[in-house]
Amino acid sequence: MKLATFTHQGSTRIGVVSGEEIVDLARAAPALPRDMIDLLEGTGDPLAMAARAAESSAARIALAEVHLEAPVLRPRKFLAIGLNYADHIAETEREKPEFPVFFNKQVTCVNGPFDAIVRPRVSRALDYEGELGFVIGRRCRHVPRDRAHEVIAGFLAVNDVTIRDWQRKAPTMTLGKSFDTHGPIGPWIVTSDEIGDPHALELRTFVNGQERQHSNTRHLIFDCYAMIETLSTVFTLEPGDIVSTGTPSGVGYPTRSWLVPGDVVRVEIERVGAIENRVVDEPA
Ligand code: ZN
Repeated sequence: MKLATFTHQGSTRIGVVSGEEIVDLARAAPALPRDMIDLLEGTGDPLAMAARAAESSAARIALAEVHLEAPVLRPRKFLAIGLNYADHIAETEREKPEFPVFFNKQVTCVNGPFDAIVRPRVSRALDYEGELGFVIGRRCRHVPRDRAHEVIAGFLAVNDVTIRDWQRKAPTMTLGKSFDTHGPIGPWIVTSDEIGDPHALELRTFVNGQERQHSNTRHLIFDCYAMIETLSTVFTLEPGDIVSTGTPSGVGYPTRSWLVPGDVVRVEIERVGAIENRVVDEPA
């Protein structure tokens, strides 16, 4: 099932994507919440309820008529990991880490799958990072690796947009990873049952139609389950939390090929779908 957050005729709500249409859950299942986090943390089996409503419903809108939003508009956490593909470590001339290098993206950077990425006035060093992300489906702590799949609601594409010079100003990376609009996610959440093995997905990033990154999630150093085990050792993971799994080689950094206004960046992940964002300048 593909769960989306969308805006239609001025109101934002959630739905189930089916082919070229979206089933409006506000009409198909009025008892269900209108917000993705509320849906994920609902009692009973809210995803099964959504799936049943979507199967039987006539409350369909053409996808072309809606604006797709970030599937989780305001997650409580947006975590990412650095240096998680060997080829990317090589291009950045860093050492392979012994321990996963987690960092935070501030949740205010979350952006829609087709909305503009703003190049800030303070830097030209605007770079992309195509990544697979996963969404936590249930409140959990101390999740062992072999049960980690149980706490994932589904998967989405992430562009971990980065301002490289600000990233390197401080070892926490937080500022360079957190400019407003620098967290496009989507285009929807594909539930785990439709993904199968999340560690066998092709990942590609294009800039203006030209392929810049191409890898497969089987090359992840710390895989999704290992990441959940480590994170949940420390803190509680909550429904709607987003965790991005790192980027392969092919970012702009090694050749200083920064994104400029007018560029269109597309991150495409097998079985998940694609997000596509245009770069614009921050208004004066
Ligand atoms: Zn990244």
